[in-house]
Amino acid sequence: ATRIVLASRPEGAPTTDDFRVETFQLPTPRNGQVLLRNRWLSLDPYMRGRMNAGRSYAAPVEIGEVMDGGTISEVVESLHPAWSPGDLVLAHAGWQTHAIVDGESLRRKLDPAGLPVQTALGVHGMPGFTAYAGLHEIGKPQHGETVVVAAASGPVGATVGQIAKLHGARAVGIAGGPDKVAHVRDELGFDVALDHRADDFAQQLEAACPGGIDVYFENVGGKVFDAVLPLLNDFARVPVCGLVAHYNDTAPPAGPDRVPQLMGLILSRHLTVRGFIQRDFIALYPEFVREMAQWLRDGRVRYREDVVQGLENAPEAFIGMLAGKNFGKLLVKLGG
Ligand code: NDP
Repeated sequence: ATRIVLASRPEGAPTTDDFRVETFQLPTPRNGQVLLRNRWLSLDPYMRGRMNAGRSYAAPVEIGEVMDGGTISEVVESLHPAWSPGDLVLAHAGWQTHAIVDGESLRRKLDPAGLPVQTALGVHGMPGFTAYAGLHEIGKPQHGETVVVAAASGPVGATVGQIAKLHGARAVGIAGGPDKVAHVRDELGFDVALDHRADDFAQQLEAACPGGIDVYFENVGGKVFDAVLPLLNDFARVPVCGLVAHYNDTAPPAGPDRVPQLMGLILSRHLTVRGFIQRDFIALYPEFVREMAQWLRDGRVRYREDVVQGLENAPEAFIGMLAGKNFGKLLVKLGG
């Protein structure tokens, strides 16, 4: 079997040297375990955090350990009563071709005759659930309100805008480059899509939100946050989901300390700014799986995938994602 391990901890943006491809001998499964062959690997921004030492909401990957990640896997051998050879499952089996895992750790069995199985890593899985739960519990978009989200062609942002529309809100999406902007507007049906790389991005955002912003679903931070902040309405909600513009930062940005100004605005505009990790709302997961399956079948929620072939290409694809090179949910297809 083949796996990709963390070779070194990156300083700033990761490079391919921070990863190492290894072949290894699979042990035999013990009682309660299953042997998996991984079919699809999900690449997600949170993995950048796992490459750092130190406290985060999940433990870091240690040097020499296999990189962490969600997978769609086939059960090859099972010593657990719930799973049989041939089952396709949603697992967390990491950046490797095969894995032995505890049968209890497997999340869902997938129906190969249903939705494309890899959607369980994207719109119908963790990223889609992040959008669903963050809006349901924190954003709470109301009819006629304006919802703004960046990384709007990615699996979280794309789903945020479309669910906001289903609630009768206006969706303003922000993405990098003309192709993504066109996709967000024309394929995903956002009311407006803007390019954060435009010189006059802040003015464009202001023009796109004449009634201000009621929900800002924070995926990125950086310049987008700066442009959003003055436009937030009284009682606006800001689910803080991710800050991908900052994941490779090595030092605080230069410039004046803006914390007092930010806190002043949170106070005077009655803002709700709440960080969350999707698992906080795991009680909603069964309802999400049901409701999203229906939306996907009805064509009310659409999605795009960016598929890379072969495990050995995962590091480069992952590094590219942090710089916006992916276009849609980034997946690695393993095997033939
Ligand atoms: P995406 O597939 O959307 O990939 C990240 C995207 O971020 C890039 O494609 C790029 O899109 C955008 N981006 C990168 N740098 C910048 C920048 N400086 N300014 C603006 N945009 C930038 O990822 P996901 O949909 O999987 O994740 C989106 C966010 O949600 C991430 O922050 C992630 O960490 C977070 N997340 C949080 C979870 C939670 O439980 N809290 C769970 C899952 C995800 P573009 O080219 O359009 O700029």
